[in-house]
Amino acid sequence: MSDHPSHADGARVLADLNALRSIGAYKTGVHKPTYSEPHMRSLEWLVQRLPEANLTAAIDGIGNVLGTSTKPGPKLLAGSHLESQNHAGWLDGPLGVVYALEAARVINPDPNATGAVEVAAWCDEEGHFGSFLGSRSYVGAVTEADIDAARDSGGRTMRQALRDVGLAGRARAKAEGGRHIGYLEAHIEQGRTLERDGLGIGVVTSIVGIWQYRISFSGEQNHAGTTRMADRRDAGLALARFCIAIDDRLPALCGPRTVWTTGRITLDPGAPSIIPGRAEMLFQMRDDDPAVIARLEDQLRSMAAEVTAQGRCSVAVERIRTGAPAMMDARFQQAIEDASLAFAGGRSVRMPSGAGHDAQVLATIMPAGMLFVPSIGGISHHWSENTDDADIVTGAKVFVEACRRLLAG
Ligand SMILES: [Zn+2]
Repeated sequence: MSDHPSHADGARVLADLNALRSIGAYKTGVHKPTYSEPHMRSLEWLVQRLPEANLTAAIDGIGNVLGTSTKPGPKLLAGSHLESQNHAGWLDGPLGVVYALEAARVINPDPNATGAVEVAAWCDEEGHFGSFLGSRSYVGAVTEADIDAARDSGGRTMRQALRDVGLAGRARAKAEGGRHIGYLEAHIEQGRTLERDGLGIGVVTSIVGIWQYRISFSGEQNHAGTTRMADRRDAGLALARFCIAIDDRLPALCGPRTVWTTGRITLDPGAPSIIPGRAEMLFQMRDDDPAVIARLEDQLRSMAAEVTAQGRCSVAVERIRTGAPAMMDARFQQAIEDASLAFAGGRSVRMPSGAGHDAQVLATIMPAGMLFVPSIGGISHHWSENTDDADIVTGAKVFVEACRRLLAG
């Protein structure tokens, strides 16, 4: 018999998550914007824990924490992020980091366990300064010019922030080709699927891509009192009708999980006594299948052509962001599902992720997988975000077992 426990210690995982919650606590959640004092203290907390897993830890020049192992054999990279949205939840990010830490603590010191888990906390996943800057830096997709250009909503440059926290001038860690067999990340679901169906584990199949559009309406600006209704070319009204038409027509063409949102509407000039001559909406669609999006985009364009042909207002559809869905590796999905059979009574379901995660960035250079645990009420990006302790512990056991299976090949 080995002296080494072969599965996750649930009490230790809960204690670690609560320790991280006490840093930058806000109500029952946390407030840890990127490079804030509680964010940096959370990174230091992790650096101090990693030697317990036989890992050498450092914070790199963009604020990523990486714990590296000298144990021979295959290496699996695992992690998530430690900063939060403003006044947000305690599990979004830390759950994946603590699971990775726990997997490393169980597997790395055990001579009978093949290989090692290396732990990462990716900086700024929540996008205070940019988009996935930490994980994108690690895969070599962030230039020095990108860092020069990055700033937060208050206008502070990333360069200044890095100087303020003492990280300026440090090298940025880069992925070593062939070092890892892949990347595994756990996260709260941030939706209601698992809770609604009484499931413990979501096996992520893909992370959806985000397509974004600017839809512009041109009519004629005129006096709101003297212009008869029949003579108007009201761009705002055309926009409102277009929103209704989207909701009428897209459901027949979309996939089972396609979602779309009108995020911002502007009327020009936007005064109560002026008929808007121009109007604009920012429109977003998410799916993991580019063919579905192509079909919906064709529909948007033909709807725009129909309105323009009617002669009152013209409509232009401009794609301003093209989605890049990330497919999760089949072997990783299988390992999570097998681990769920062993530790979650098989209460798992394969599902896409509608939210973005660092795993989609890592998936561009290595096989990647993700598992979800249930979110109470589907609430996230809010301080009341929570997951049942029992679900947290089950998820940790499944995560550690999935790591073990992946390393054992
Ligand atoms: Zn997150």
